Amino acid sequence: MPDLLTEAQSHFPYTQALRRDFHAHPELGFNEIRTGGIVTKELESLGMEVTKGIGKTGIVGLLEGGKPGATLLLRFDMDALPILEETSAEYASQNSGVMHACGHDGHTAIGLTVAKILNAHKSEIAGNIKFCFQPSEEGANGEEIGGAEMMIKDGVLENPKVNMTLSMHLWNEKPLGWVHVAKGPVMAGAEEFKIKIIGRGGHGAIPEAAIDPIVCAAQIVSAAQTIVSRNIAPTETAVVSFTVIHSGTAFNVIPQELTMQGTIRTFEPKVRETVIRRFEEIVDGIASAMGCLAEVDVKRLTPALINSAEITAKVQEAAHLVLPHANHDQSPYMTMGAEDMAFMQEKVDGCYFFIGSNNKEKHLDYGHHHPKFDFDEQALVNGVALMSAAAMNILK
Ligand SMILES: [Zn+2]
Ligand SMILES: [Zn+2]
Repeated sequence: MPDLLTEAQSHFPYTQALRRDFHAHPELGFNEIRTGGIVTKELESLGMEVTKGIGKTGIVGLLEGGKPGATLLLRFDMDALPILEETSAEYASQNSGVMHACGHDGHTAIGLTVAKILNAHKSEIAGNIKFCFQPSEEGANGEEIGGAEMMIKDGVLENPKVNMTLSMHLWNEKPLGWVHVAKGPVMAGAEEFKIKIIGRGGHGAIPEAAIDPIVCAAQIVSAAQTIVSRNIAPTETAVVSFTVIHSGTAFNVIPQELTMQGTIRTFEPKVRETVIRRFEEIVDGIASAMGCLAEVDVKRLTPALINSAEITAKVQEAAHLVLPHANHDQSPYMTMGAEDMAFMQEKVDGCYFFIGSNNKEKHLDYGHHHPKFDFDEQALVNGVALMSAAAMNILK
């Protein structure tokens, strides 16, 4: 394998300039027009075949290797967040109220640098590489579905058919030099639930003539706590959180109805199904026992992000080769956060890895989505080196 760490280091000025430019000009999900324009121009300058408009503002570049083989998709997300930036960086957002507070500016810059490096090595590559620049990872932003699902709908996994995927996140929860590549579930599946409890309104002093949706909701909130404690094995993980309850207008009136919202998070598909089934049973059963009518809507937002053992082993091998001095972590690192790359990895085997990016001495250690979020740009080099090495190790 070529010395890809040295190559990544020599391309650092290019990566950094792109990252700072994207950072200064952030765009929200499905509005990545300027960003996508730069991505297109850079990929075309390498002689790549570029397709625009895959998933609205998504861009796909196809690199054909010198030898026949499988098709590997590398995915980089491009969208920013509706946050007013509070860093005093010289490259701070010039688009007030919009900010790259998750590091996707870095991901896009890494993707373009990896394209440049792998293009120079294409004769050594057995297969095709699809460079997938995805819009709207942070949510659907007014559309029915988010960026990954939208790209799948528009055929990103076909023609040529994608056999494997790689993707990554700069990770400010961990320091520069930490690299996490682990098999199995790494990010949680997320659902959003909405419940409406319909009772019968009445006077607060005459409860026997009313059906109280508030008492019913209180039983549901308590009983739902038993899903994690009684229905899920202690070695498994799940979260059920009620985050919104609305009802009532006056101190002496039993309201007619009540609405609640919240979220469910799980890693294992079997646990996910159990939690959703028990949740619906508890809401329906308690409501009916209390004489209320319940409407439950569990909207499945994102499945868990699960890494293939086989592909992960190849990425781990590449990580040790290309980043010998890194702090390699292969432990099951699970974050309850969700990631829409899970939709692609649900259909095609893949590996999603994390590159540590904080630097406490430089005060670059605010968490993702914080208005002061920023990372140590040396992490870009690690991301470029590992993504390039992993792709070459898989398609060798
Ligand atoms: Zn984010
Ligand atoms: Zn992110």
